Amino acid sequence: MDKRTFLKNFLTLGCSTLIMNRVGALNIPFVSNHVLNPPLLTNNNVKLFVWGHGSPTTTYPDWIKYFDSLKSYGISEVIMAGEDAVLSAAIPPAKEAGIKVHAWTWIMNRPHDPIAAQHPEWFQVNRKGESCFDKPPYVGYYKWVCPSKPEVQNHLRETARRIATLEIESFHMDYVRYPDIILPEALQPNYNIVQDREFPEYDYCYCDDCRKEFKTLTGIDIHQVTDPTANLEWRKYRYNSVTKVVKIIAEEVHKKNRKLTAAVFPHPEMSRRMVRQSWSEWPLDAAFPMIYQNFYNKDIQWIGDTVSKGVKEIKGRFPIYAGLFLPAFKNAEELNAAIEISIRNGAAGVSLFADGNLKPELVIPPTKS
Ligand SMILES: [Zn+2]
Repeated sequence: MDKRTFLKNFLTLGCSTLIMNRVGALNIPFVSNHVLNPPLLTNNNVKLFVWGHGSPTTTYPDWIKYFDSLKSYGISEVIMAGEDAVLSAAIPPAKEAGIKVHAWTWIMNRPHDPIAAQHPEWFQVNRKGESCFDKPPYVGYYKWVCPSKPEVQNHLRETARRIATLEIESFHMDYVRYPDIILPEALQPNYNIVQDREFPEYDYCYCDDCRKEFKTLTGIDIHQVTDPTANLEWRKYRYNSVTKVVKIIAEEVHKKNRKLTAAVFPHPEMSRRMVRQSWSEWPLDAAFPMIYQNFYNKDIQWIGDTVSKGVKEIKGRFPIYAGLFLPAFKNAEELNAAIEISIRNGAAGVSLFADGNLKPELVIPPTKS
């Protein structure tokens, strides 16, 4: 993929894939191009997930065909993006096929939200005073609402309440964080950026509500601080602002007896540093850290080390499923090695993500004819 696509892919599924090459509901080249090791999966009782997209035009028999295909690869759960109607249509055939469906939902980044679009004042403001509503950082769809605003919190509460009425396995949160203040090192050259420090144009949110609430809590006016990047209380305030939204959503989702899961950055310390996402503190039922080694110029061993760091910090409060980026693997052996190292380091399974952009030499048969 070209550099631009690569960056876009990162930002969208660090993240989700609504903007990426769609992996159509009936098109799973990302699975059929890799063979998964059935003994490895079965022997370890490993759960295998995939992030995918639904389509409003898919018929019941086509859904069955799709879910049966997933099953033939050992995949038992699909984290599906799509409108409520698409999810509703997918759930009965998924049930028939023995597949669980999770509702994949963007939380803070809401470029496609018609209600939020009517409220430019809901959107985050960077340290230069620019709103991402009309000046989004990095890419045009980076339109992030501010977690500190009660109107935003209420809107997200309602969104969670509505989606949790569907018969989903979990409400799966994505983009539940701030915009990337630091991009992964492999992506920075794509924008000719060297983020050796926190630059004001990528540093959010400095809106009046955040400023006022922070001052009430700490007595500090962040606009009067010479170097806000060095202020630990300000940093913590933003971890807490996101965590507060997660707790609000958790309350709604759990009230409906649904699980709450999240796609998060690789491990909690990295997540706090890069996107103010302190996910080890969240009331989750499972976390899906996106451990995409190629974004960080790392190898497969790093996947294991990263899983291990998450597991240590979570201390068994909820399971971790390692998110793996399929195009990062040269062959099936590498993929299976990544699954194995994830499990060995404490992951309860893995979730696969791809953009369909795989190499033809990786074509191999499915695990069952
Ligand atoms: Zn704000």
